Parts: sequence; structure tokens; C-alpha cells
Amino acid sequence: MFTTNPFYQELSENYLFAEIARKVDACRRTEPEAKIIRLGIGDVTLPLAPAVIAALHRAVDEMAAAETFRGYGPEQGYDFLLEAIREHDYLRRGIAIAADEIFVSDGSKCDVANIQELFGSNCRIAICDPVYPVYRDSNLMAGRSAQLQYLPCVEANGFLPEPPRTPVDVIYLCSPNNPTGAVFSREQLTEWVAYARRVRALLLFDSAYEAYIRDPALPRSIYEIPGAEEVAIEFRSFSKTAGFTGLRCAYCVVPRALPGRLNALWRRRQTTKFNGVSYPVQRAAEAVYSEPGQRQIAAQIDYYLNNAREIRTGLLAAGMTVFGGEHSPYVWWKLPVAMSSMAFFDQLLHECHVVGTPGSGFGDCGEGYFRLTGFGSCDATREAVKRITDRYLQ
Ligand code: PLP
Repeated sequence: MFTTNPFYQELSENYLFAEIARKVDACRRTEPEAKIIRLGIGDVTLPLAPAVIAALHRAVDEMAAAETFRGYGPEQGYDFLLEAIREHDYLRRGIAIAADEIFVSDGSKCDVANIQELFGSNCRIAICDPVYPVYRDSNLMAGRSAQLQYLPCVEANGFLPEPPRTPVDVIYLCSPNNPTGAVFSREQLTEWVAYARRVRALLLFDSAYEAYIRDPALPRSIYEIPGAEEVAIEFRSFSKTAGFTGLRCAYCVVPRALPGRLNALWRRRQTTKFNGVSYPVQRAAEAVYSEPGQRQIAAQIDYYLNNAREIRTGLLAAGMTVFGGEHSPYVWWKLPVAMSSMAFFDQLLHECHVVGTPGSGFGDCGEGYFRLTGFGSCDATREAVKRITDRYLQ
């Protein structure tokens, strides 16, 4: 008889978003006439850009002809996409990354969850709190619960942690942060890189939302900081940048300068466990970097950022305390009433018919906060802000 992985027992039973979906469904059933507005789940809503769709169609046609059909591709991505990434995301910003340091995948979720396979089971791991739950859960699944250390991200530090005083080996950083919307400044990231170099720690830098940074002074890549290529892996995704949440494409950069032959280990891992992203999807990702592609995705991101701004300014004008929403689709709302964020979720759902995400779902330090996102439609967002401010005007 088989046994099961005992570390899975340490995961919480209900994945937050499943629980939220269940509650929203129940509300729909009991109040069928209610117009529920979803500002909760972090998924895009606009259709794919025309340049992306055209590239997909072309690639599908290629797959239909014997001369242009493609079977298995290179596990780490086709050269055309690796080159486009290297040129547009790095070289043009003065960062020298080689094509063989880039690994294309079907999503950052898998990448940030799988990367921990490269580290010893006794590695000490630091994770921001609150943050995207996958960093924590993937390490719990690997049996590292005793080695997990949380870095509190609270109002007093602008939701951006400083390097820990106790020793750690691997640190997950997320900027712009999900859920707080906080973004590291160049000085703060410089401090992190200096720390990692000093204590020989590794930074895992998740910049899934870098395209939402509008202030050119804020770093979009950790490799903008000199020396980072010796201490950092970077994760990027086409999901929130170009609406690929359903299409699936992302990449990570694992520099050869990293100690421990991490670039070779990751290649070994990917070639064993992954067979590459489909050809049409990689052509679609390449089209994101074309001139029309860049223009079209910039307009989409502007749309989401406008929604986030609408939420932020609306709530601030009503006397509430909010953070984020400037270089991020996420607005981090300090609860206007004294109750748990899960109880507030229920109140907002039943009294305003607005869905958000309880801060506690992202870590203990998220308690007392609520995440709203700019991914809804413009009209629905405006309507949600009106309902919220009418109800909670301070
Ligand atoms: N990293 C962060 C911080 C995210 O918020 C998300 C998705 O919400 C991901 C990674 C996963 O992105 P992908 O769609 O590429 O798997």
C-alpha cells in the first residue's frame, strides 16, 4: 500500500480562492437579483491584443502544413522568443543577459513553485508576509516548514521588508507585490543585492507585474542593480503583461554567474520534467514585442491601471486608508471597520455585492486588510467604488 506525502498535511485545507468562489456562488443562489461585482481574483478580463491573435492564427496555419509543422520544440524555448525577450526586456535596458540564461515556461506559478527543487531540504527560506501564497505552499510541500521564516510587510515599513537579521539562504521577493502593490525603490533593491552578496544568499525575484511600473525611477528588473546576476533569479510572466492567463507563457532568468551551477541544474530539471511551451503560444508571446503588440498591451495595462487609480482615489477621497494601486493593479485597503478580513469579505459581499480578497489569505500580516484589483471593467469598477464609499464613508 502506498503512503502519501506527509508534508501535504501541513497545507491549509481550503485554497482561498476556492472558498471565495463557493461563497459568491452561495450569494448568487440566495440573492439571484443582486448585481455582484468581482474585484477579487487577480485575472485579466480584456481579450488578447490583435497582434497576438494574428500571430496565433499564423502559427496554427503553419502547424497545418507538412513543410512548416513543428513537433517537440526546445524545452527552454524557441530561439525567436529567447532573442525577443533578451533584446526587448534586457538589452534595451542596458542589461546583458545571454539567451541560454532564459527559460521559457507555461507560467510563473510553475516556475516559482518548482525552483525550490534545486535547493537542499535544509535550506533556510525567507518569504514576505503577506505575499502570493505559492512560495510558501511549494516549500511546505517539500518539507521545509521548520526552515520557513516570514518577513513582515506592514504599514511601518511601507509593506517592503528589509533584509532579515537572522541568517537565511533563499529569499523570495515580489515587486510590484501581490497583494500590497508595494514596489521596491532602486535603493532598497540595492540594499537587498548587497545583503545577498554579503551573506551568500540567493534572491528569487518575482516581477510578474513589472509592466505596471510607470515611474522610470523604479526598477523593473533586479538585474538593473549591478552584481545582481551573481545572486538573483528573476521570474516574469506574459499573464498580466499581455493577457496570457489563459494562453500560458512566462520565463525565468537563471544567470550562469550564479553559484552552485544553478543554470545547469535548472536546465537539467526542465529538460527532464518539462517539454516546452507550444509553438503557437511562443509565436503569440513573440508578437507581444512587435511594435503593434507593444502599443496594444500598453493600452490594456493603462486600462487596468486606470481602474486601480479609480479605486485608490475614490476610497482615499472617502477618508479611507489605501496603499498600492499606482504601479500595480492591486489596491491594498486597510479595513474601515474592526473585524477580521474574512468577516469583512462576507459583509462587503452581502451589503455591497462587491467581491474582494481578504488580506489574511496572503499571510498573517495581511489580516486587517483587503485586496481590490483593477482587472474589472471600468463601469463596474466605478459602480463598486460608489457602493463601497456610500456604505463606509468615514
Ligand atoms: N507571481 C505572482 C506574484 C502572481 O500574482 C501570479 C499570478 O497571480 C503569478 C506569479 C503566476 O503567474 P502565471 O499566470 O504566469 O502562472
